[in-house]
Amino acid sequence: MSGKLIIISAPSGCGKSTIIHDLTQRGNIDMTFSVSATNRKPRQGEIDGVHYHFLSTAEFNDRIAAGDFLEYEEVYPGRFYGTLKSEINRALDAGKNIVLDIDVKGGVNVKEIYGNRAISIFIEPPSVDELRRRLENRGTESREVIDERIARAEFELSLAPKFDTVVVNDNLTEAIDNAEQIILNFINGAAE
Ligand code: ADP
Ligand code: 5GP
Repeated sequence: MSGKLIIISAPSGCGKSTIIHDLTQRGNIDMTFSVSATNRKPRQGEIDGVHYHFLSTAEFNDRIAAGDFLEYEEVYPGRFYGTLKSEINRALDAGKNIVLDIDVKGGVNVKEIYGNRAISIFIEPPSVDELRRRLENRGTESREVIDERIARAEFELSLAPKFDTVVVNDNLTEAIDNAEQIILNFINGAAE
């Protein structure tokens, strides 16, 4: 059986990482995680090669020049994130499904490349006010960075209709149940 792509996109703070982490813990879906590259600094607890491949800006630019990215975006000014072709190909060549935690524009681009071999899922917050509260409670960004992320979120939310499906993350357990069912239906379905 050949592997498929599961694209999870949303504005920052909507719960992508939490949902992917919890789905992995449940273990009902056979999928590996696409470790992206970024030039941002690791947050406390983040491990190089596990959460991201943390690169310097020069290293990131070298990987762009070498054509190593399936896609990359300057998601925030000066902060780059990209999906490495090697991550995706390694999984797909081994017949494994792969899940991508990727910004909204990147999600739309990868879906366009892979068509029916990918499902694109947009995680929506109950409201922008709640999104701000979650980013504040997460406590990993300064006020300035949170403002930047909220400003971008308003544009990103308008792109939800470009996705195959939308999951509202109000009650976390319900959102995970919902996402799990959608993904299982996709990977067990006949569509290729
Ligand atoms: P993302 O990966 O999309 O940036 P996170 O998974 O880091 O988002 O979630 C942002 C914050 O919101 C985290 O502190 C997380 O624990 C919290 N969170 C996620 N889902 C919910 C939810 N349904 N209700 C309340 N808080 C949530
Ligand atoms: P964070 O800094 O919170 O880890 O991520 C910021 C944003 O970058 C999130 O929306 C996340 O999904 C996105 N992101 C992470 N990896 C990639 C990637 O490989 N490509 C793109 N386009 N966005 C990514």
